[in-house]
Amino acid sequence: MIYFDNSATTIPDERVIETFNKTCVNYPGNVNSLHSLGIKSKELEKYATDKIKKLLNLSSEEVIYTSGATEANNTVLKGICSRYRERGNHIIVSPLEHSSIIETCNYLERKGFIIDYVKVKDDGLIDIDDLKRLINDKTILVSISYVDSELGIRQKIKDIKKIVDDYPKCYLHVDGTQAIGKIEIDFNDMDFFSMSGHKIFGMKGIGLLIKKKNIVIDNLIHGGKSSSVYRGGTPPLPLITSLMRALELIIPNIKDNYRHVEELNKILVDGLKKYDKVHINSTDRSIPYIINFSIENIKPETFIHAMEEKEIYISTRSACSTSDYSKAIYAVYGDDKIASSSIRISLCYKNTLEEVKKFTEVFGEIYSKLMLK
Ligand code: PMP
Repeated sequence: MIYFDNSATTIPDERVIETFNKTCVNYPGNVNSLHSLGIKSKELEKYATDKIKKLLNLSSEEVIYTSGATEANNTVLKGICSRYRERGNHIIVSPLEHSSIIETCNYLERKGFIIDYVKVKDDGLIDIDDLKRLINDKTILVSISYVDSELGIRQKIKDIKKIVDDYPKCYLHVDGTQAIGKIEIDFNDMDFFSMSGHKIFGMKGIGLLIKKKNIVIDNLIHGGKSSSVYRGGTPPLPLITSLMRALELIIPNIKDNYRHVEELNKILVDGLKKYDKVHINSTDRSIPYIINFSIENIKPETFIHAMEEKEIYISTRSACSTSDYSKAIYAVYGDDKIASSSIRISLCYKNTLEEVKKFTEVFGEIYSKLMLK
């Protein structure tokens, strides 16, 4: 099997599963129980949280465990809107955002908030002049993905933060789900950051919302005592330790992994460019982990299933997208055909040169076959 759908989810690392299993067996107590089993669990939770903070170089930030990035995104958007409604009712996002941002914005719009979509340039970068034009005294939140899930465009978050900083009542949220473990992140550049464990060889069902300690938001989930006042419910200790392990395995190796994936990306892109009906949609601002392309006159599903028959797994676009048409790709290319025909290869550091060579070979066979039809 060749698994090139790592932006949809990664295959959990054995070492992460081991940590999960050991925590289940050895730490059965509820973190908030007063007896010794509870105290033992609480100590482990503190150890894991401290370790996560250290790995991510967090000091003035608070870590809130969530079920994943969707919950983290919902928590920030709804939490800010509920808390700061009197300050303003304006939010700015980009057309490259994941459905967990877009759908939440649609909901908020129905509740009376005004959502503006900042323009992106030809290379996929946020148009800073448009952001300056849109932001105003009523803007309470700007939410931008560090790296989007379809084209893999890496945004210039520092430049965005500079604009937001001129508006003290406005916060910057960064959806870092496709960025964590792939690029270095400076948490001083943002007020909130969302991520998910399953994109970094962790378990499904755990994510983080990282929040500047001094910012107060309203809760999304009310309930019993947890590890954070912002999210009720019994802390899922095995998921928390497994997230710590996943981060521990990936964060120190970001640079080496990036170089390796860059090498794989070059071979793949050079291979794809040989075919005249292939259009590479990723731009020079895309990170090497994501290669988005279209094949003229070929339905992406047809191509993906043909690859699947050879045990090669890629995807049409984001696995969580709510339609076949990509608003993200349309925003960059302004072309309906490209927006409805994109195919995504998403790599991870565990992919190999052999896999890439095999992919290129099989791609050629399938391309020729489909073109003859
Ligand atoms: N944001 C981005 C950019 C994503 O790629 C994803 C997952 N595809 C999410 C949010 C949602 O993550 P989760 O599946 O953990 O809820």
